Amino acid sequence: MIIDCHGHYTTAPTEHNNWREAQLAAFAAGTSAPPYPEISDDVIRQTIESNQLRLLKERGADMTIFSPRASAMAHHEGSAEISLEWSRACNNLIKRVVDLYPETFIGVCQLPQFPGTDLSASVAELERAVNELGFIGCNLNPDPSGGKWTSLPLTDKYWYPIYEKMVELDVPAMIHVSSSCNINFHATGAHYINADTTAFMQLLQGDLFKDFPTLRFIIPHGGGAVPYHWGRYRGLADMLKKPAVEDHLMNNIFFDTCVYHQPGIDLLVDVIDIKNILFGSEMVGAVRGIDPRTGNYFDDTKRYIDSANISPTEKSEIFEKNSRKVFPRLDASLKARGL
Ligand SMILES: [Zn+2]
Repeated sequence: MIIDCHGHYTTAPTEHNNWREAQLAAFAAGTSAPPYPEISDDVIRQTIESNQLRLLKERGADMTIFSPRASAMAHHEGSAEISLEWSRACNNLIKRVVDLYPETFIGVCQLPQFPGTDLSASVAELERAVNELGFIGCNLNPDPSGGKWTSLPLTDKYWYPIYEKMVELDVPAMIHVSSSCNINFHATGAHYINADTTAFMQLLQGDLFKDFPTLRFIIPHGGGAVPYHWGRYRGLADMLKKPAVEDHLMNNIFFDTCVYHQPGIDLLVDVIDIKNILFGSEMVGAVRGIDPRTGNYFDDTKRYIDSANISPTEKSEIFEKNSRKVFPRLDASLKARGL
């Protein structure tokens, strides 16, 4: 089967998005947010069936690991309470989608991170999402300030409470920033790719996986600039007196295939061990158009894997087996369905 490890609810109902605007407006005005709106199953079905579900079927995938729209997490907006309320609303909405299409979608949560606060609310929301909503992972924002990088590196003990909970629940995190409020960094074109690369380098500089040998991170968008600059990171590991990158990091870090052209995917599968690559498309997401040179959607990444010069066994690892290893709760849920 084909599992897309990276999909967001970018087509969430207007009522949901309008409530967010009202929530932030109320915060700015010093009043309380209106109650969260009633959203019917039919409205949710319409947003999914005309978008993610249609494209999934057209492209020949079976499942999507589904999380709230990343650019809308906007952890820096409002306050810690606002961020918590918004995260819970977004996660509850994902749960509605999963309940309507349990064979196609499985949930990953947004965390209520707020710059300058500790991670106790995130720990509690992760626990709720996994134990009560049945989710299988989380998106962890390494820069909740939205492009200003005011938080500590991912190897700092500041982050340990969420890692401890992830290990306890046996769930991975996708390292995923949100919108950018720094005009120098376009959100999906620069901020995302910067963050992917930055996270990898922070982990290379530290020894986090000595403390958490079973902790697992997915670095999306093909690992940012990392695979292209693999020699640089191997060389830096050597200069920093770290073990070889493969031993130091690659039992714990995985890259997805959200790379939107064939040469990029060819490089990814050539440079990075197949065991570290998970199929993903981030559909419907950052780049929605059709490549005039191929006539296909840029983000139809299954085509690039299909065309890559790797064996059928390696393709099935990328499409299915690696995700089942990185997300044990996904594997358990599929096995319970006889898959
Ligand atoms: Zn994403």
